[in-house]
Amino acid sequence: MNFSLEELKNNLIQRGEKPFRASQIFKSLHSGLNFCDMTDVSKEFRAKLNEEFIDQPVEIVESVKSVDGTEKFLFKLPDGNLIESVLMKYKYGYTICISTQVGCRMGCAFCASGLDGLVRNLEPAEMLGQIIMVNKYLGGGIADKRKIINVVLMGSGEPLDNYDNTIKFLRLVSEKGGINISPRNVSLSTSGLVPQMYKLAEENIDINLTVSLHFPFDDERKEIMPIAKAYSINEILSACENYFNKTGRRYIFEYVLINQKNDTKRHADKLIELFAGKPCHVNLIRLNEVKENQLKTVTDKNAYRFLGLLEKGGLSATLRRRMGADIEGACGQLRRRYINDIKNNSKMEDNYEKN
Ligand code: SAH
Ligand code: SF4
Repeated sequence: MNFSLEELKNNLIQRGEKPFRASQIFKSLHSGLNFCDMTDVSKEFRAKLNEEFIDQPVEIVESVKSVDGTEKFLFKLPDGNLIESVLMKYKYGYTICISTQVGCRMGCAFCASGLDGLVRNLEPAEMLGQIIMVNKYLGGGIADKRKIINVVLMGSGEPLDNYDNTIKFLRLVSEKGGINISPRNVSLSTSGLVPQMYKLAEENIDINLTVSLHFPFDDERKEIMPIAKAYSINEILSACENYFNKTGRRYIFEYVLINQKNDTKRHADKLIELFAGKPCHVNLIRLNEVKENQLKTVTDKNAYRFLGLLEKGGLSATLRRRMGADIEGACGQLRRRYINDIKNNSKMEDNYEKN
């Protein structure tokens, strides 16, 4: 499933197969079918494909639904690794938040995904597979039968640290004849890998760019986000402006509100100074508390006060509604719980055997 339609066509031609088969297979894979279900392909050829390729690289292991309708999916990969996606329902349709790596090596203090470092990069097909499997789960197909409208790369992992696979995925997801989601409906979130942000601007893929800023001061940002030691906020802003100049797409800053760390008037004033008059938007998010660290989420009162300060200062800003708080909404939390449960179970089994 890593193949683009063109690559699949070339591969089939080399095998002496008819090129039109490529469109059939591409369409079926993007609809979530396995080779064995592709009844429009001969049995012998299906068997050959099965021997050589993996049709659907992700498998849903568990899904948990929140009282607010947010649903979290845990997937198993061919090598046994686990990843997560979160599905959110809005008035206009579904948005899926997908993972781009198993774990993450950026080590932000508030994030569950980075706690154990990076395990491995996801393949393009493993990113795409999360969308395809959940779309199928929702009863959706491709083209006008698709249920998922928007995709955000905001699950576990730093997409720009898995640059080539992410770019390949971004091209695959919008291919005609496949799941075909327009780049305008795709958003990529980065912790601010400046050189890759410049590279992305040259790719001619006009997706929405979101940067996890979280602090307007470099010294405070460095304490919570190690990547801030490599790139300053000013360098990030220049990279965002370059992205805007090249693509015409407004950029968004994510700002996770952490009690008494970044939710004061001093922080709001600095954000206003940095962003007033710029073609950007600030998305405030309440911290989802992770039990492995001491950071506390913001009170509702302070969250609205902070939003009010930004708006008064002329910034375009919103406070994201709390979603999936009861299902461990923050990226990486369900996966961690599942892995810990497995570890605890096997520890219990060990103890049982020892007794
Ligand atoms: N690595 C990328 C994309 C994945 S993280 C990035 O950092 O942007 C997606 C978003 O979730 C980021 O804005 C991140 O800061 C936020 N996030 C991580 N842990 C969180 C938590 N515990 N509570 C709220 N948001 C969190
Ligand atoms: Fe990685 Fe993003 Fe989590 Fe930071 S917030 S550790 S960059 S996934």
